[in-house]
Amino acid sequence: MGEVMTSADARRFFATDASVLSMTPAVVVYPRNENDVRKTARFTWQLAERGRVIPITARGSGTDLSGAALGSGIMLSFPAHMHKIMELDSKSGVVTVEPGINYAKLQQTLHTHDRFLPPYPASMEYSTIGGAVGNNSSGEKTVKYGDTRDYVRSLRVVLANGEVIQTGRLSKRELGKKLGLATFEGEIYRAIDALIEENQHLIDKMVSGVTKNSAGYALSDIKRRDGSFDLTPLFVGAQGTLGLVSEVTFETEVFVPTPTLLVAHFDDLEKAQAAVLELRDQSEMPSALEMVDDNLLRLVERLNPNLLNNVITKPFPRVVLLIEYDTPGERQQKKAVRKAEKILNKIGATVTVESDPRQQEKYWMIRHSSAVVVGHTEGGIKALPIIEDGIVPPERFKEYLEGLYALFERNHLQAAVWGHAGDAHLHVQPFLDLSQVGDRQKTFKLMDEYASLVLGLGGSISGEHGEGRLRAPYLIKQYGPEMYAVFQKVKQIFDPYGTLNPGVKVNVTLDSVKSLLRSGYTLDHLYGHLPRT
Ligand SMILES: Cc1cc2nc3c(=O)[nH]c(=O)nc-3n(C[C@H](O)[C@H](O)[C@H](O)COP(=O)(O)OP(=O)(O)OC[C@H]3O[C@@H](n4cnc5c(N)ncnc54)[C@H](O)[C@@H]3O)c2cc1C
Repeated sequence: MGEVMTSADARRFFATDASVLSMTPAVVVYPRNENDVRKTARFTWQLAERGRVIPITARGSGTDLSGAALGSGIMLSFPAHMHKIMELDSKSGVVTVEPGINYAKLQQTLHTHDRFLPPYPASMEYSTIGGAVGNNSSGEKTVKYGDTRDYVRSLRVVLANGEVIQTGRLSKRELGKKLGLATFEGEIYRAIDALIEENQHLIDKMVSGVTKNSAGYALSDIKRRDGSFDLTPLFVGAQGTLGLVSEVTFETEVFVPTPTLLVAHFDDLEKAQAAVLELRDQSEMPSALEMVDDNLLRLVERLNPNLLNNVITKPFPRVVLLIEYDTPGERQQKKAVRKAEKILNKIGATVTVESDPRQQEKYWMIRHSSAVVVGHTEGGIKALPIIEDGIVPPERFKEYLEGLYALFERNHLQAAVWGHAGDAHLHVQPFLDLSQVGDRQKTFKLMDEYASLVLGLGGSISGEHGEGRLRAPYLIKQYGPEMYAVFQKVKQIFDPYGTLNPGVKVNVTLDSVKSLLRSGYTLDHLYGHLPRT
C-alpha cells in the first residue's frame, strides 16, 4: 500500500482546490497502483454495507474550479505514484497512461513522436490527465478538435465496491455477455441499458446547440443505433462520482508545429460575431478561435502594462480575435489563411497575419494576459472563479457578451471577458472580497443571475470545468426535473451507498454549497503541490 496520512498539515493542504469552496478530508491516501485504489474502495464499501459512509474523492493536482476535488473522507491523491506512461504506439498515436501523470509532461512526450492531445486545458502545466478526464476538460484547440471525451478510447475503472472494469466500445454480442455477468459490473450494464431504453426520448433532447458540455452525465453516446455500447463517455466528466479511473487510453492527433496566426481587431460586437460564425462555417476550421475584450486590455494596461508593449496600442479595439490555422501542408494552410483573411476584411476587421512563431508568441500574450486578472489581488479583493464557465450556442455569442456586460453593470462590477469565442464559451471573474458579508451574498446573487443568462440563451452552466459542487444546484434548471431524475438514477446505479465523491454533480442544495464558501481566496496550493516521485 502507498502512504496513508492523517497529519493536520496534509489534511489542510487538501482542504482547498482552485474553487472558492473548502472542505477538510479525514485521511489522505497516496495509492501506489490500481490494487491500492481497489483496496480503498473495497474498504469503504464494506463499511458502508454496515451503515458507515466514508466518502472517497479522487484527486489529481486539485486545480478544479468547481469544488469537485474536495471531500470530507478519504482524499485519494494520484500524482505521487500513479504517473506513468504504460504504453505508447507511435504509429497509431494511441497512448495509455496512469491518471496522475502531469498533462504537460505527457504532451511533451507526445510531441517527440509528432503527436499531441488536443483538448489540453490552460492549466496543463499543473494539472493531471485524471483531472482532465474527470472534468471532460478542453481548451483553445477544442473548436477544431473537440473535448477530452472525444479522445478517450477506453478506461480502467475501479468501481465503488472495488471491482475493476475495462471500458471500451462493445458490439451487441459483447454487450450480451456483460449483461449476463453475475457481478456488480453486470448489474451496472443491465441497469444502465434499461435506463437508456426507458429514457431515450429525454436523452435525445440532451444534445443541445452548444459545441461542448461538461454539465450532467453524458448519456447520449453510450448506446448507438447499431446496438454497440460503451460506458467510457459516461465516466468522462463524471468528476469521480461514478468510479475511480486507474488507467486511460487516448487517441491522439498529428502535431503540426508550424501554424499561422491571424490577429483581428473589431470595433463592435456584431462584426466579431459575424466573423466567428463565418469562420466556423468554412470547411477548414481554425485550430484556435480565441478572444479578449477591451475591458481586459484596459485592466492589463493598468495592472501590468509591459505585457502589452509592442503588441497592441491604444485606442484598444472592442474585441480582439486570435485565429490560428494548423492545417497540414504549406499550400493548404496558406489557402485556409487567405480565405479567412478575406472573410475578416469583408466584415471590416483590421487583420495581421503572422507565421513567425516568435511573433505569434507575442500576440498570444494578449490572450494569456487574462492571467493578470486571475492572479490580481487588492487587499482581500480577488478575481473569483464563480461564473467562469458558461457556454451558449455560437449564434448567441453576441447576446451572451451583452448579457455579461449588463450583469456586471447591474452589480456595479468591473467586467473583463476572455475565452473561446469559437465555442461561445467565455470566461469572466468578478473582483470580490470573500471576507466581506456583502460580497459573500453577492457571490450567490451573481451565480443566480449568470445561470439564468446562460440557460436563457440555450446554453450550459459548464463548458469545461464541470458543475462540481459550486454549480450543481443549477443542474436541475438546465436539464429539467425528469432528466435530473435520470442523472440521480445513474448515480444510484454506480454508487448505491454514496461513497464516491458525494455532494458533487447531483443531490446538492445551494445551502450546502453556501456553508463551504471560503473566507478568503488564493491559488497558493497550486504552486506547492506535493512532489512527484
Ligand atoms: C488558472 C486555471 C486555468 C484553467 N483552465 C482550464 C481550461 O482551460 N480548461 C479546462 O477544462 N479546465 C481548466 N481549469 C480547471 C482545471 O485545471 C482542469 O479541469 C484540470 O483538467 C483539472 O485537473 P487536476 O489534475 O487539477 O484535477 P483535480 O482538480 O484534482 O480533479 C478534477 C476532477 O477530476 C476528478 N478526478 C481526478 N482524478 C481522477 C481519477 N483518477 N478518477 C476519477 N476522477 C478523478 C476529481 O475528483 C475532480 O472531480 C483551469 C484551472 C485553473 C486554476
